[in-house]
Amino acid sequence: MHGHSVGRLRSLPQVQKLLETPEAAALLERFSHRTVTTALRAALATIREELSRADSPDAVPSPREILQRARRALLADQAQVLRRVVNATGIVLHTNLGRAPLAPEAVSAMCEAARYANLEFDLEEGVRGSRLGAVASLLCRLSGAEAALAVNNNAAAVLLALTGLAGGGEIIVSRGELVEIGGGFRIPDVIRQSSARLVEVGTTNKTRLSDYEAAISDQTRVLLKVHQSNYRIVGFTAEAPASDLARLARKRGLLMMIDLGSGTVADLTRFGRHHEPTVRESLGTGADLVTFSGDKLMGGPQAGLLVGTDRAIDPLEAHPLMRALRLDKVTLAALEATLRLYVDEDAAVACVPTLRMLAQEADALTERAERLLALLHDLENVRIEATTAYAGGGALPDQAIPSCGVSVALPELPATELARRLRLNRPAIVGRVQNGRLLLDMLTVADCELETIAAALRLSKTSQDA
Ligand SMILES: *Cc1c(COP(=O)(O)O)cnc(C)c1O
Repeated sequence: MHGHSVGRLRSLPQVQKLLETPEAAALLERFSHRTVTTALRAALATIREELSRADSPDAVPSPREILQRARRALLADQAQVLRRVVNATGIVLHTNLGRAPLAPEAVSAMCEAARYANLEFDLEEGVRGSRLGAVASLLCRLSGAEAALAVNNNAAAVLLALTGLAGGGEIIVSRGELVEIGGGFRIPDVIRQSSARLVEVGTTNKTRLSDYEAAISDQTRVLLKVHQSNYRIVGFTAEAPASDLARLARKRGLLMMIDLGSGTVADLTRFGRHHEPTVRESLGTGADLVTFSGDKLMGGPQAGLLVGTDRAIDPLEAHPLMRALRLDKVTLAALEATLRLYVDEDAAVACVPTLRMLAQEADALTERAERLLALLHDLENVRIEATTAYAGGGALPDQAIPSCGVSVALPELPATELARRLRLNRPAIVGRVQNGRLLLDMLTVADCELETIAAALRLSKTSQDA
């Protein structure tokens, strides 16, 4: 350590002195004495470290500067890490951005249930009630199932189903469906966790009904079909239709289950999207059980939904894992509210943001881009571009959605830096960088977010000018 830095370290104020300043008094109104003291000690420690470096600045920070540092640290510590994001990526179900944004009806139901709620209490009789009653009957009504359950997510639904229905026995799956969904969710691993044995049949591209038939033993419990969520096998291919598998299962006293992944409750072909099998259609194949996610195409909260026959659902409802995987009251409230919207499919399209975004006409997207462009009239290098958007969430993977975006390039500010500034805005704005420009896709942006985006862009420019 240099001699002169030792002298400078001595001239740093004591914590006690700092606590007596007016700036400290303001902090002490908001934080406890102990919290402020800790923050000041931390600030002083950092400053000492800086001053003892050979290349340290000459000036010793003033008490005021030290307090400002402590204040910034205290505020940053308090700031909520999980916060709102404006999704301008053009990916409707972006797993990193929390998948489905909820319908306002679901949001208010969550707020209401956040207090005390009749989660397991029958208000009519004043006795213990069923936790899943409302959600299960809505799921049955919407899918045509006899029985239904809801758990934490679809991975949990698959785990529960395979454990409860095939634990100790064998599950037959086509080699073309041994998929990894993402985030490390691999069907073979889940089967291993379930204590059932995986029996692979067929090949990557072709699996026939006779392959399943030949693999059935006295240990077989379940024939599992996994929906090709995030990939397609094209070309020289064959798969056994679900209805044939269901018939085979029935004939041999087994259960047939479909992991539908991003199951949709509404028929997407009505907005010109490709056909994704609906939950009702999947049950219509004769499957005993269908599982799907609440927060993919259905546009609800994170949940795993199971619909099927009493024979398949009853043992799962009574299974000990059910307790470990169950939903909390806030999620259940959002789920019930979302399902209730689907009772009238037009209401669902109008209110469930995921459906509304997928149902948008090209004209509406262009119009939104034009409105944003108009709000940005004072910026120079801004233009409208045709873009390619996606449903995401492992749905419609091969279907690009033609969309429209606004791209921005600010002079002397790399697009990656502009993107970073927008990410740090409140609310955060996430677009994508393409060809050296920041691209904001209008498919996933709401009209009410345009002002927010324009203000943030203007701010990024000013902080650059400054
Ligand atoms: C997404 C997906 C899952 C996992 O669902 P989560 O709700 O994310 O747990 C499982 N299976 C398939 C086929 C999927 O697409």
